[in-house]
Amino acid sequence: MKIGIYPGTFDPITLGHLDIIKRSLKLVDRLIIAVARDSHKHPPFFDALERREMISESLADLGLGIEVEIFNSLLVDYAREKKATVIFRGLRAVSDFEYEFQMALMNKKMAPEVEGVFFAPSQSYVYLSSSLVKEVAALGGDVSDFVTPAVEKKLKKRFLKKIDD
Ligand code: ADP
Repeated sequence: MKIGIYPGTFDPITLGHLDIIKRSLKLVDRLIIAVARDSHKHPPFFDALERREMISESLADLGLGIEVEIFNSLLVDYAREKKATVIFRGLRAVSDFEYEFQMALMNKKMAPEVEGVFFAPSQSYVYLSSSLVKEVAALGGDVSDFVTPAVEKKLKKRFLKKIDD
């Protein structure tokens, strides 16, 4: 059985992430979506449990063969623990490249048995990022083309609460 890991912050999950999930599923029997508790960029807006919940709600009928877990350890150690042989990431722009390249080489050095696989984004999601979705939602914009209804609802609730506070 081939096991793959798709790690990320998923703050929140977008249709771009879902596209990578669907495509990853063609390559493995079991996919673990690994939600990083902390982020290498900035503190996540949603806590890890909320992010995991939004992923599970967004998977709907995709769910078969997918697990969603929160992790906080070194990715390669986590991959080994889960007996995963492949780590999936997406490469949206040149700006993603430097960091991803370094990480992939570092991971390969630490765990040569784990392969890193990169997906080019589907054309309709090239520009899509969790940060942009949050910015649009914070300003009251319509994010229904970018996230699932479950995430849209959660974003609305959170930003309305902020305005009320
Ligand atoms: P991280 O903080 O680890 O980069 P993200 O949740 O931002 O976590 O992204 C997780 C992975 O999904 C990354 O490899 C990222 O490049 C990829 N990704 C995010 N959005 C898209 C998208 N629209 N299309 C393709 N890949 C994407």
